[in-house]
Formats: sequence, C-alpha cells, structure tokens
Amino acid sequence: EKYVYNFNEGKKEMKELLGGKGANLAEMTKIALPVPSGFTLTTESCNRFFVEDQVIWTGLEMEINDHLKELEQSTGKKFSDMENPLLLSVRSGAAHSMPGMMDTVLNLGLNDHSVIGLAKATSNERFAYDSYRRFIQMFSDVVMEIPKIHFESILEEAKRKQGVALDKELDGNDLKEIVKKYKEVYLQETGEDFPQEPMVQLILAIKAVFASWNNPRAVFYREMHGISKLNGTAVNVQAMVFGNKGESSGTGVAFTRNPGNGEKKLFGEFLLNAQGEDVVAGVRTPNELAELKDLMPKVYQQLEIAAKNLESHYKDMQDIEFTIENGELFLLQTRNGKRTAHAAITIAVDLHEEGKITKEEALLRIDPQQLNQLLHPNFDEKAAAQATVLAKGLAASPGAASGRIYFTAEAVEAAYEKGIKSILVRQETSPEDISGMVKSEGILTARGGMTSHAAVVARGMGKCCIAGCTEMKVNEEEKIVKYKGGVLSEGDVISLDGTTGTVYLGEIEKSKPTLGGKFTKLMEWIDETKTMAVRANADTPEDAKQALEFYAEGIGLIRTEHMFFKEGRISSFRRMILAETVEERAKALNEILPMQKNDFYQIYEVMGELPVTIRLLDPPLHEFMPVKEEEIRQLAETMSLSLEELNGRINELHEVNPMLGHRGVRLGITYPEISRMQVRAIMEAALEHKSDKNSDIQPEIMIPLISDVKELSYIKAEIEDEIQKVFIEKGKSLAYHIGTMIEVPRAALTADKIAEEADFFSFGTNDLTQMGFGFSRDDSGGFISEYMNKNIFENGPFDTIDQEGIGQLVEMAVERGRITKPNFKIGICGEHGGDPASIEFFQRLGINYVSCSPFRVPIARLAAAQAAI
Ligand code: ADP
Ligand code: MG
Ligand code: MG
Repeated sequence: EKYVYNFNEGKKEMKELLGGKGANLAEMTKIALPVPSGFTLTTESCNRFFVEDQVIWTGLEMEINDHLKELEQSTGKKFSDMENPLLLSVRSGAAHSMPGMMDTVLNLGLNDHSVIGLAKATSNERFAYDSYRRFIQMFSDVVMEIPKIHFESILEEAKRKQGVALDKELDGNDLKEIVKKYKEVYLQETGEDFPQEPMVQLILAIKAVFASWNNPRAVFYREMHGISKLNGTAVNVQAMVFGNKGESSGTGVAFTRNPGNGEKKLFGEFLLNAQGEDVVAGVRTPNELAELKDLMPKVYQQLEIAAKNLESHYKDMQDIEFTIENGELFLLQTRNGKRTAHAAITIAVDLHEEGKITKEEALLRIDPQQLNQLLHPNFDEKAAAQATVLAKGLAASPGAASGRIYFTAEAVEAAYEKGIKSILVRQETSPEDISGMVKSEGILTARGGMTSHAAVVARGMGKCCIAGCTEMKVNEEEKIVKYKGGVLSEGDVISLDGTTGTVYLGEIEKSKPTLGGKFTKLMEWIDETKTMAVRANADTPEDAKQALEFYAEGIGLIRTEHMFFKEGRISSFRRMILAETVEERAKALNEILPMQKNDFYQIYEVMGELPVTIRLLDPPLHEFMPVKEEEIRQLAETMSLSLEELNGRINELHEVNPMLGHRGVRLGITYPEISRMQVRAIMEAALEHKSDKNSDIQPEIMIPLISDVKELSYIKAEIEDEIQKVFIEKGKSLAYHIGTMIEVPRAALTADKIAEEADFFSFGTNDLTQMGFGFSRDDSGGFISEYMNKNIFENGPFDTIDQEGIGQLVEMAVERGRITKPNFKIGICGEHGGDPASIEFFQRLGINYVSCSPFRVPIARLAAAQAAI
C-alpha cells in the first residue's frame, strides 16, 4: 500500500487523500507553477498511525526515506549535509481546513553544525542563525508544546539590549546568542538537548502533526461542524525556500481579487526579509502588495500571471501564499479565498460574465445566509472592535442599532416624538409592544428564543433584535439593567449587533447597505433558475414595499391581528372582544370595518395583482387586553363599566394554556361575526380597487388552526354567505380563494378531507413544530439550546425544519392533499420559509411557494434557486 505521494503524483481532486493543502500543492506542480518540491503523507497514513499505537511503522519510514532521496536529487542538496543542507518545512493539512490542528515547522534539518555550513554556503551568517532560531522556536512550540512566551521574552530582551525595534535589525551575532539561550530553554523544559539528528527531528515533527489530529480542540471542531468521519490529517514535507535572505527576499499573501468588495485586482500584503507567518502574525506591519510592483516589478508581474493562471484553473478567487528568495518567486499554497457577501456576489457575477463559470455555478458560489450581511446596515468594523461589550444574546434579527434604552413601548414612542433614537429593552415583548417596536431602532429582550414574539416580529420588520440575553437582568419596574460589569438606567446609550448578538456600550458608527447592479443581475438569474415562488410575510403597506424591493412575488401571510394594535383601533377592538351582546359587538366591529378595509386597500395598492394571502384573526383574545391599571380604568370608562365588572370580563378570557386554547378558527366558530367583518373588509377593498384601477385582484383568504374539515365547512359557509352579501350590495363580484393553514398535526393527517373544502394549503410550520414536538415556542428556547449542547439536536427545530418527524407530516399532507386535488397550490408561511436547509427540503416535496419576512426574501430566493439546480 502507498502512503506517500510526491507532489508530482497528485492532483486537486485528491483532497480526501492528500488533504486540501497537499492536493493543491500537487495541482500547482502539475500546471508547472513554481512550487518547491516535496511529498505528502496521506490522511490514511494518519489513520493507520493511530491503529499502530502512534508509532511510525517500518513501511512508512521506508517510504519517507525513498521520497527524501528523490527530494535530495531534485534539489541537489543533502538532508544531513553539514555544508549546504537541505532544509524542510513540515505542514499539516486535512481535507477541510481546520483550526486547532498543529502548525507548521520551518527550517527543519538545521543543527549546531549545519548552521555554520549554511552561513558559509550563503555567505550570510545572519540568515543562517535567523533560520535556526526560528526552527528551534517552532519545533519547541508545535512539537514539544513549550510555551512560546519563553522564546518571545528572550527575543524582546535582545532587541531591547541592542536598542532596535524589529527582528530583522538584529545581526548574526545577536541571533547566535539568541540560539544559545533558546537551546537552554529547550533543555530546561524537556530535560533533553535540542535534537541534532535531522531524521529524528523529521520523525518527531511528523508524529506531532499526526497526534494533533486527536487533540481535544481539533476533535471538538470536527464535532461542531459535523465532519467526524474524516480519516485524519495529511503531512506535507517540502523543501524550504527562504524569504529571510535579505531585502530581495520576502514573503506574502495575495488574493486574486479583492475579498472585501470583489474588485478584479490583485490584493494582498507582503514583508521583505521575513519568513513564514510573519505577515499574519503581526510581527511587523506588512506592506500593501501594490508596493511590490515598484520594488520588484518582474516578481510582481510573475505573481500577477500566476494569479490569473490559478484563477482560471480553479475558476474561483484564490488566496495564495508566496515567498520570494533572492528575487525568485515561489508559490506555497492556494485555496478558494474567503470573502464578504458583497465580494461573493461581485465575483460570482463577474466570473460568469468572463465566461469562466456557468450561471448555475455562479448561483451555487454564494452562501444564502451570507446575504444577510448585505441587506442590513452594519457597524463599522473598527469602531465595533474598540467598543465595550456588555453582553451576548441570541442574534435574533440582523442589523445594527444604537439608541437610548427605554423599558416600555410608551416611553419609546415618547422619545420618538422628541426625535430621540431608542432601544426597547424588555424582559420579553408582547403584541402590545408593537407600536414601540416600530418606533425603536432595535429591540433587546432578556428572555425568549429565536421564535419568541420579539424575534419573529423584529425579523418581520427588518428591525435589529437581540433576544434571550440572559446575561442581562432587566428590571422593568426600576427601569434598570444589570450586566456583568455594572448597571444601565433609562436613557443610557447602547448598541446592538443583531447579526452577532453582541450588546455594546455607547453609540457605534454604521455603514449603509448598497445593493448594486450585480445584486440585480443575481436576482434575474435566480428568477431564471428557481421553480418555487418566494413570497413575503407582511402586515403593512411599508412591509409590502420592502418585500417588493427585495423581489418578493406576492404576500404569503398577512397577520391581520397586527392591524388591530394600530393607534385609535385597539380601543374599539377591545370593546368588540369584551362585548356581552351581539349588538354591542356589531357596533364595535362596524367601527373597525373601514379601518381594516383601508389596510387591505393600501396593501393591494402596493402589490397590484400579485397574490396576497390574508389570514383571519389568529391569536387568543386575551392577548389584546390591557394589563396596566391605568389603561384598564380608561377602558372601563369608555365602556361605562365599573372596574370590577371589566376585570371580571377580562378574567373570563384567561386561559391556562392559551397556545392550545381559544384561537384561530375556534374564534371564528364562536364569533362568526368577527370573521364576517374581516372577509367583508377584504372583499370590499378588492372590489373598490377593481373599479378604481381596473385591476384583477383575486383575494386569498386563509383560515388558521384547522384540525377537522368540518370546522372549515362551517366557517366557509359563514364567510361565503357574507361574501355573497357584499357582491349583491355592490352589484359586482370577483374571483376569490379560501384556503387553510395546515399547522395542527391532525390537519396534516386528514389533509385529503380538508382539501375537499380548501382552495389551497399553507403550512404554518412554527405551530406544526410546536404541536408536533409539544415544545412551546415561547418557553422552549432555554432547554432546546441544552439539547443542542448535548448533541440531542443538531439544529433548533424552529430554525430548520425537522425533516424526519415534522417533515413527514408536511410530506404526508402534500401527498394527501394532491390525491384530492392534483394541482393543489401549497405554500409554507412559517419561519422555516426563510431557512435555506428547509427550503431545499420543501423543493423536494414539490411545494409551490415559501413565504418569509421581507428581509429574508433574497436569501430564500437564492436558496430556492440552488435547490432547483
Ligand atoms: P497554515 O496552514 O497555517 O497556513 P502553512 O503550512 O501554509 O500553514 O505554513 C505557513 C507558512 O509557512 C506559509 O505561508 C509559508 O510562508 C511558510 N512556509 C511553509 N512551507 C514553506 C516552504 N517550503 N518554504 C518557505 N516557507 C514555507
Ligand atoms: Mg498557509
Ligand atoms: Mg399558526
């Protein structure tokens, strides 16, 4: 069996066997780029190393020896030579790049004798001893795990003694002295002399790389990222080239395009007279790559050509590591470069237009989740890095916000009137807080998870929100927040980063999102590719406009209850709920009717003939009741009731388990007049729009929380009767559709029957998950995170649909619904409608559309396109 491959034996497709770094070194060798020769010990050899109780078995040692001989031949140097020794780098590299693994050892092969030879052969004593001190330090650090600080302090001391600022200003004698001290440290820390035999050095280094595969950090990382099935790490052994030979040598990093904005121009940094990681380690401030053009025009040009070559070869932006030895360029690594969302779009679009990749490939190159970065404003990176972090919570809704903290919706509104920017801080929010949420810059809650009220509503509004920030103790009564290092009071300024969940003290500068022409292009390609439609959940004309700006193809869910919280309405609505007689209720409903009608008209005005699905009232009625004494007193007055009487009626609405209580269609069954009013508002608005604008609007009316077809038959008869009345009164009619949510497991199981009465289905996957698991959406955030920590769940079931269980309910309902009606239109309107992994699943089930909050629409669109490829 073969465990070692020469660089000229491999290729980029052999990542699993040679590791990412090894496969790409082989590929670069194959296409004749200047790569120092070397060989790779395979990931399988790492695997066997553990089977062999962590010894290098004879066969492997023989293979290493053979390849070493070949390397000596191709370089013309000898590994253990005392005159002009072959020096090596030993580099780890698994199939996936993986922090926590062993680092690189450079200049391996040097010892007390060969360092003298090297100094002579190169007539450069400084270089020889600089290489030796680096080798001792790296070997000690990565192979023997001697703390770096011992070596760093010696180096610092030497610089201080010589009165110089930079390593490169130390001369040969200084470095000789340092080497002596380094070896003393080594002896002290290990009880042994620094190994002098090159072959011993090499075997120790290889073993250390192998062993690092199973160090706890690496194991943890693999578990975290679900890549526990890999074989092991490869080890690359490569001839050294030297960037520390003087001012015509150096080392650097180059990106073939700008990773920040995607600009098609070489971008990077370099250092002269330096080696290895000096550039990234911040030993000295590196120079911009553009400066190399003046310093070494030839080398720069070579680098440009190599970069072009690599990019056309890999068909993606490359992140390249290079070293220059006495004016000669060498490439030491290449990989697909990390990039911002902005750069990702620019690069993908450009690469297609340059004819390098197909449209489909371009679409697959962009991570949908990453688009989040683009759609919301962000904090200026530098400013945020300098700000004080107060706490971390759940990154519930992305964006960046700064403002003064207030603890009630009223206080936020009052601040808004005065032109003060505010952050609403609460234990958790309720529907009552909506007006305050609208007028705040951002929302911070101490309790609640990713699907808590605050999180869902904030995402819907595209407003920044951090939820479940348990590190902060919110005291709404005293209007203070306690955090680890102190206390905040009303009016103090904080900043929220909803993309990371970080809470900062004070205001932080922001950068605005810009969606350029490339974004538009991307959206066009998405339309050409995807088969599933993407609608938005929107409750207001403003939300609808935002959704259209983000290329939504309709509205999949209007939550009509949100309309009742608007100013001037809540009082009528409360009177409607608390009415004891049908007449009283009718009177209050009559007050609400024109307002609802106007809401719908406005939304039709924005959406035109795009489909708009309106859900009838859903939440339990007590959610609309006032809680503050003052408000209760006012309401009692307007209703001419005593405080006691009113409190009595409010108490009657109380439910022990409201999520499983009197809500959804159950309200319509008890109070059909509410459903009738809503349907009348919808139809009158549509008819009016039709005659004003000659539009062909076909309202989609959606009944929530159905569990039995008979519920649907009942409510349908009621609302169709009302619709007929409207048609007769107005002397006009139009086409409409009455559909149902599938969100109670029983509805999914009996979907064939329900389909007989419904014109469409829309899955409320939040409730379906809640009822399928028996997890309360509002309370389960805390323990579900424990499930994730303990690997019981890989994903939160409210974030990504549970395909195995809840997914079966969806699949079954789709199948059964379509047995009854083969071309049945089926959508998704839960939070999962904006989650790429869930979208991929919905595509497989043949769902017609997903609907999500406006700010997730572009993400869902890209995910839908990718799912269709
Ligand atoms: P990492 O995975 O941390 O980037 P590398 O194996 O790429 O580690 O090594 C880090 C750096 O060490 C490289 O960027 C390069 O500057 C230097 N290096 C590695 N191998 C060689 C070599 N053969 N000759 C010169 N420098 C090398
Ligand atoms: Mg590297
Ligand atoms: Mg629901």
